[in-house]
Amino acid sequence: MKTNMKIAASALALAMALILAACGGNASVSSNVSTGSSGKLAGKPWVTSIFQGNLPPEAPAAKDDIYTHFNYEYLASHQSQPSTAIQDHAAEMREANLATIKDSSKTGHDLDQLRIFYEQASDLETLRKTGLADVQPFLDRINAVTSIEEMNAVLSSEDFPFSPFVLSYMTLADTRDVNIVNVGANLALVDVVTIGGAYYQDTNDPQLQQSMENAIRNEASLAMVDLMTMGMSGDEVNAAFPSILAFEKAHGKYAGYYGEYSQKEFGAAAKAARDSHFTMSELCSACPNFPMKATLDKLGKGASPEYVSTREWLEAFNGLWTDSNIEVIKLIAKINVLAETRPYRNPPTPKQDSKADGQDVAIAESFAYEACNQQNTFAIVLAQTYADNTLGADAKPRLTKLSQELVDTYKVVMKNTTWVSKESQQRIIEKLDNMTLNILEPVGGYYDFSGVKLTSSAQGGTLIGNYLKLKQYRLDQESKMIGQPAVAASPWFMIRPTETNAFYDSTSNSINVYPGYVSSLMYTKDMSDLDLLAGVGFIIGHEISHGFDYQGAQFDAYGTPNPVFTDADASSFVQKCSALASYYNGIEVAPDVMANGQYVITEAAADLCGMQVTLELLKKVENADYEQFFAKISNVWARVVSEAALSELTLDVHPLNNLRINVNAQMFDSIYDKLGVSEGDAMYLAPDKRINIWGANA
Ligand SMILES: [Zn+2]
Repeated sequence: MKTNMKIAASALALAMALILAACGGNASVSSNVSTGSSGKLAGKPWVTSIFQGNLPPEAPAAKDDIYTHFNYEYLASHQSQPSTAIQDHAAEMREANLATIKDSSKTGHDLDQLRIFYEQASDLETLRKTGLADVQPFLDRINAVTSIEEMNAVLSSEDFPFSPFVLSYMTLADTRDVNIVNVGANLALVDVVTIGGAYYQDTNDPQLQQSMENAIRNEASLAMVDLMTMGMSGDEVNAAFPSILAFEKAHGKYAGYYGEYSQKEFGAAAKAARDSHFTMSELCSACPNFPMKATLDKLGKGASPEYVSTREWLEAFNGLWTDSNIEVIKLIAKINVLAETRPYRNPPTPKQDSKADGQDVAIAESFAYEACNQQNTFAIVLAQTYADNTLGADAKPRLTKLSQELVDTYKVVMKNTTWVSKESQQRIIEKLDNMTLNILEPVGGYYDFSGVKLTSSAQGGTLIGNYLKLKQYRLDQESKMIGQPAVAASPWFMIRPTETNAFYDSTSNSINVYPGYVSSLMYTKDMSDLDLLAGVGFIIGHEISHGFDYQGAQFDAYGTPNPVFTDADASSFVQKCSALASYYNGIEVAPDVMANGQYVITEAAADLCGMQVTLELLKKVENADYEQFFAKISNVWARVVSEAALSELTLDVHPLNNLRINVNAQMFDSIYDKLGVSEGDAMYLAPDKRINIWGANA
């Protein structure tokens, strides 16, 4: 590749990492309520109004601050309790599903099985009595290990139903081809797709380093509590933490996701993807010390025609798998067994200072729902139940139609873009033509639960026992999918579809909108088309654009790692993005804290495209109510955060919520033509300063 142009300057390792994890949502940032805030933040109101205590005394005009104007009521009413509109609606699915579980007039095989599990998970008395007892035999086997050889024997054993070090899931190399298996690190302290996982990437920025260290300690706290439940003292756990982290970092940083490629030359991600295919014997020879074949056989993944993995990770992991590391290896094995079984044991105890009765009802409900809402248990059934019973039959066709209209609008925008070569343009359109729309469920469906047969308590069944049955059932279903024609559904089997998530997946060229994302904020049966477009439409438009950004453009219409941009077009694209990054760099969000354009550029660019395509589609609506459009698009992103959360926000690869609306709205004619923004207004940006990446004005 000739080009050395890079999107990133510093700390861009994260930039793509969270796309899968939290693209349409927000990485959750815990906000400490600090009352009596002084409102001392700098910047224009439209930059700082999301910070607690910085709301202007009166709502600004839309011409000066679209976001604050339309969200004023929300912002004012959440000053003492920071939150986001998306978070406020996140419990709806749980509430609806709990109502269904409790409604005995609703029956069916899946629901009946789910109820057996739910009831066992609600039985706090039994679970508290049982404690760790059902898991202890597995922990004892790990404790008894004295060498790698013995550890390998435990991990390979058919009656040890855990895989504490290796993660495997279905993926596909090419949507015209078949499903294969992805093999990666099962990290103990954090998962690579969570925010703390980015800690494993190197960064020179000390502030970011500190934030990541805090995030990882935060993530690890439950694991540390588990070790204490197992009998270790707090001091022992603290003493062990650095060695666990060191082991994890030594291989976790190679665990493989595409974040790092946003700072490498164009084509590097595609090359890495091409180099990531292994046969079983290649996989085993890259990591000979670890019992890879036995592990994959046990996971039902032994028959895959090939595997996707990362050579650097396999080699680094192999180098660590030695007798001298056996103690830390045992600790990590226990942490992962405890983490996997956590939803099914040791429910929380009520606070001692109050009567247990009322609290236990709430604890039982919440514990039991979470036990059901796991990837290995009933998350799929819960997602389906919510989609069928709550969203209703109209939701999927309506959201799919909207998604298709957005795809079609992108085609027009692409055809009007003069800076891109015909060659790249054609390949982008081919991607759009072949984009799979997994809306509310994967095209091709989920695996079915008809073969699930749990054992009720009356018949002697236990929660852990039924969990292991469900897990085995899932592995068996996945096993059947190996080598079958791919259906671009793989992203649905990696994460729970009940999660608040919408994203683009480049290896299947698919848009994925999980039922968990579709609260009443995004969709109701009687919501107007305009509100639908401004709410979920903006997000879907954002996601589609990831298909032809710096990383997405390295994979073709079939998910194959073939760049769709020519090198020259990749350079031009980077230049367009750099201009947008520079614009963000000039925005002061707090005293001496500037927005970090390089850091958020991938998501900022997707927001710009999402705004553009929704506005293009809106142009087709006769007498469209633009006030209402900007009200709804702002309302979806309403958010109040504490000033203390500012440093944590630097870990979010998305721009601040108010910038997601205001900055992008500035770039398009609509606010000038329809909202009357003109020179002198705070929302005004001179025509020659407006940045478009695609379309006639780019
Ligand atoms: Zn995104």
